[in-house]
Amino acid sequence: MSGQFPALYVSHGSPMLVLENSAAKDFLSGLGKQLGRPKAILVASAHFETDSPRLSADEWPDMIYDFGGFPRALYEMDYPAPGEPALADHAAQLLTKAGLPATTMKERGFDHGTWVPLKLLYPEADIPVVQLSVQPDAGAEHHVAMGRALAPLRDEGVLVMGSGSLTHNLAQLSRYGRDPDAQPPDWVTRFGDWANQRIAAGAVDDIAHYRERAPFARENHPSEEHYLPLPFAMGAAGESARGRRLHTSHQYGVLMMDAYAFD
Ligand code: ZN
Repeated sequence: MSGQFPALYVSHGSPMLVLENSAAKDFLSGLGKQLGRPKAILVASAHFETDSPRLSADEWPDMIYDFGGFPRALYEMDYPAPGEPALADHAAQLLTKAGLPATTMKERGFDHGTWVPLKLLYPEADIPVVQLSVQPDAGAEHHVAMGRALAPLRDEGVLVMGSGSLTHNLAQLSRYGRDPDAQPPDWVTRFGDWANQRIAAGAVDDIAHYRERAPFARENHPSEEHYLPLPFAMGAAGESARGRRLHTSHQYGVLMMDAYAFD
């Protein structure tokens, strides 16, 4: 369909993704060219957590370095893309109309869930970006509903994406000695295989009820914020959404870096 981008889910991993060579970095670096240039980008970021849906509405968003203990080069990075307050308003209206009361907010810069992947996808930073918050207490079904409410944006040339991590147990990360190439344990790969299979089958109900249905759901997502951008992206592709896995790799054993496109 011309002018329509797939809804995307990308895993952003550690902020070091933009500095260190990896399969996931190579993949994301080629993805923007593959997709082409959208009019604007709306990102649901795991690092923007609120109680009710909020949209960033600054003309020129600042940078947020929401991580600690990384090399100075990371804190000197910039992603000087503009915001698009009109798109933030429009998205808030679509959500509110769908029964999901949403508001816009100023002085909300780009968190690393947004700027790390976008720096690789669209390094020119010349496409307007609006961020949408996730609501960790509202569960996955709520995020499918948010995606569905914002599906019309895809007909307007907006790239709708979720940025999280397919698996994300940071407490277990230390067990792997921070070795970027550590092999993933069975409880990680089994969750990843389940997600891939259910996404390819278009089983949005399973993705929405993953906490009860997926193997090792709680082990891979002790808190839900890195998972929730996935049901959001699947929702944004409509009722008959099916996903294509664009990429799979892993970092530090416990972070699966998988990415999906939903048509
Ligand atoms: Zn993250």
